Amino acid sequence: MRTMLLVASAIALLGIVAGCATQDAAKTEPAKVETAQAEPKPLTQYVDTPTGRWMVHDEQRPAPNIITPGNECGAAPSDAIVLFDGTETSMTANWTDTKGNPTKWVFRDGSMESVEKAGYIQSKQQFGSCQLHLEFATPATVKGNSQGRGNSGVFLQGEYEIQVLDSYENKTYPDGQCAALYGRSVPLANACRKPGEWQSYDIIYHRAMFDKDGKVVQKPTFTIFQNGVLVQDHVTLEGGTQWINAHAVSDFRPLPDKGPIQFQDHGNPVRYRNVWVRELKD
Ligand code: MG
Repeated sequence: MRTMLLVASAIALLGIVAGCATQDAAKTEPAKVETAQAEPKPLTQYVDTPTGRWMVHDEQRPAPNIITPGNECGAAPSDAIVLFDGTETSMTANWTDTKGNPTKWVFRDGSMESVEKAGYIQSKQQFGSCQLHLEFATPATVKGNSQGRGNSGVFLQGEYEIQVLDSYENKTYPDGQCAALYGRSVPLANACRKPGEWQSYDIIYHRAMFDKDGKVVQKPTFTIFQNGVLVQDHVTLEGGTQWINAHAVSDFRPLPDKGPIQFQDHGNPVRYRNVWVRELKD
């Protein structure tokens, strides 16, 4: 008897709960509102580009130039300006010291090697915004430590340094290790190969722009791959890359639209090869 009462109570309770649920649903069910059908999007979509207004997927739109990529990774494509192709002829044809005189760097085994106290080597041709490929090797014989080991550097427009350093098991301050924008931006990874091994930089550089008073109106940006690894991801530089004292006060110095590509002599015999450039729009 007691069991029957319990079952009846349970059934009654379920009924109440179900009833509440039904009532709640009835209360909360949204009223149906008649909405107008959205207008279908027009099939013709236009985009404004530097070459004019074009319909999306318009085959008449100017296509990119056809170029022939290099036969292997790192090889210069057909539209590149080759600054050093591994021959002494291209070294003397395209590179000088910073005063425009013949460089004292040496040609060795298909590379340009830094010589202590020879000063920087720089390209005769000047560049602004550009894509730059180069390969470098720090000395196979390890000497020194921190900033004293395999130090050199790549300068864009003769102004902004991308550090070259033997950072393979060599501790230093991170904003001065290999692939740093010196003193400004720590690389995303240490992608260094062992001392003496060839490494690559692929750099996308968009130059700074200045107004008539020399004030920066657009800061320079850098994207850099080291050995295929992204190490600077569209980084905006916030000032110069000089060393501590000058760096501490250096904002942007106004620059001409173009400047040389330079490799630094920092007293260590660092080598460079396979250097090519593609000029970019600002
Ligand atoms: Mg350096």
